[in-house]
Amino acid sequence: SEVDASPTLTDGFQLVIDALKLNGIKNLYSVPGIPISDLLRMAQAEGLRVISFRHEQNAGNAAAIAGFLTKAPGVCLTVSAPGFLNGLTALANATTNCFPMILISGSSEREIVDLQQGDYEEMDQLAIAKPLCKAAFRILHAQDIGIGVARAIRAAVSGRPGGVYLDLPAKLFAQVIDAAEGARSLVKVIDPAPAQIPAPDAVTRALDLLKGAKRPLVIFGKGAAYAQADEEIRGFVEKSGIPFLQMSMAKGLLPDTHPLSAGAARSMVLKDADVVMLVGARLNWLLSHGKGKTWGKPGSQKFIQIDIEPKEMDSNIEIAAPLVGDIGSCIAALRNGIDSGWTVPSAEWTGAVNARKEANIAKMAPKLMKNSSPMDFHGALGALRRIVKERPDAMLVNEGANTLDLARGIIDMYEPRKRLDVGTWGVMGIGMGYAVAAAVESGKPVLAVEGDSAFGFSGMEVETICRYNLPVCIVIFNNNGIYRGTDVNPTGGEDPSPMVFVPGSRYDKMMEAFGGVGANVTTPDELYSAVSEAMNSGRPTLINAVIDPAAGTESGNIGSLNPQSAVRKG
Ligand code: ADP
Ligand code: MG
Repeated sequence: SEVDASPTLTDGFQLVIDALKLNGIKNLYSVPGIPISDLLRMAQAEGLRVISFRHEQNAGNAAAIAGFLTKAPGVCLTVSAPGFLNGLTALANATTNCFPMILISGSSEREIVDLQQGDYEEMDQLAIAKPLCKAAFRILHAQDIGIGVARAIRAAVSGRPGGVYLDLPAKLFAQVIDAAEGARSLVKVIDPAPAQIPAPDAVTRALDLLKGAKRPLVIFGKGAAYAQADEEIRGFVEKSGIPFLQMSMAKGLLPDTHPLSAGAARSMVLKDADVVMLVGARLNWLLSHGKGKTWGKPGSQKFIQIDIEPKEMDSNIEIAAPLVGDIGSCIAALRNGIDSGWTVPSAEWTGAVNARKEANIAKMAPKLMKNSSPMDFHGALGALRRIVKERPDAMLVNEGANTLDLARGIIDMYEPRKRLDVGTWGVMGIGMGYAVAAAVESGKPVLAVEGDSAFGFSGMEVETICRYNLPVCIVIFNNNGIYRGTDVNPTGGEDPSPMVFVPGSRYDKMMEAFGGVGANVTTPDELYSAVSEAMNSGRPTLINAVIDPAAGTESGNIGSLNPQSAVRKG
């Protein structure tokens, strides 16, 4: 009887895996170690895909962007204390960006941690996680794993999505309970992100504003991309005839080349529109808080805002027509409203937008054709723009300063949720984590366009990319430094400026060290050929693109955020 007793038992390890699988989780992003190594081994044995990284922040970023891409929580697993803290940066970033993610960290013995008696990797992780995420839970008993995982999933994806921390003490994994009881304790979350239907009078208020507008504008943010209401959104835009802007990660929701896209006339439409409808976009720093010289005269513009989070309304300025609900339901309601009587915006408005657009596109065109060596940003991005145009379904990851700001404007996107970048914080370090998850979740080739500085924050994951043989092509815009590669030490001393790197670095050799393909290119034509080959072959590739160290500006487009010293000597 001792022999056949075991099949009737289950334990914490098994129940965590069962609970995740029952809820459709397929991929785990992780860095193994005590106490989660066996959990990961068992998860792989049970058919979950386990992607093992070199640093938790990158695993966390991968989980976060998996959440954005799939509308289901991305799951990251870490060890305790430092591993947890490394993952926490990504969890906070996910929460800030409204991406659903669950960070599961192993933790030390509660009894010892709470008495501060000095355990291995002792840390009160739950308390530390709480202010940095949407919700945080700890599971102490194996019987509670089912409900604990269910709570974490629902907290991550319902309402405004965000990051959830789940604390699993080491002892929990080894707890043994009856297998039948364990099976009964599992919970499959029903309707984890319920539709949130907008109130009819709020819809009418928004429609009245839209109908009275002379110069209407719609701004789509990454919330609109996340919502996966692509057809409703396209239908609304095309029926209404209202020009639109797409925030960075919303690009491609409608093609950037759509006749109603006002992307190339951005500064004009932000100033001149009289009614602006925000759809899943916050009026934060990325939209100059809805005021100042970016926008028209105070009082001359009225705002409609669609958001699932009621507290977002009036965050910076008055919202004349708040529309609280999920974007699919809100857009469908507006669509119904304009079906019964709607006049498209005047040719005076759309004609002015188009004229500005065409002028700006014509001005940019010759810069993108320049075939110089060393390259400047525009010449290099002109080549990458063609690459994406030829492969509209490829994923694009983008970070850096100039590399980010210029790529955002220059590379047109054609399909929803293809552009992944630094997001709400404008943070560096998301590159390789996002690239790995983009490949794993989409199965499509990934182009990661990275500043040399930005790449450094997650560069070791090129080994991960090679190990899993992912179809990722990394292009490093190498101008030898942060912003530029030309700064010198004002004292004349031996140390370089804090803003520069080793001149002439060959990042491509890093990729070769792990069996991937490396290439060094110095002209846009060479860049185009090397990237085409990588995207076609699907082989892990890193292309070191030599950019003029003098090209680029301080902090890219956001140089004005640097404080200025009154007493500076150097
Ligand atoms: P961007 O940076 O692209 O402007 P933000 O991250 O600032 O976008 O804004 C995204 C907004 O979308 C958040 O305020 C979030 O609450 C909202 N949001 C996310 N998902 C949904 C959804 N399904 N329905 C409605 N609003 C959503
Ligand atoms: Mg640089």
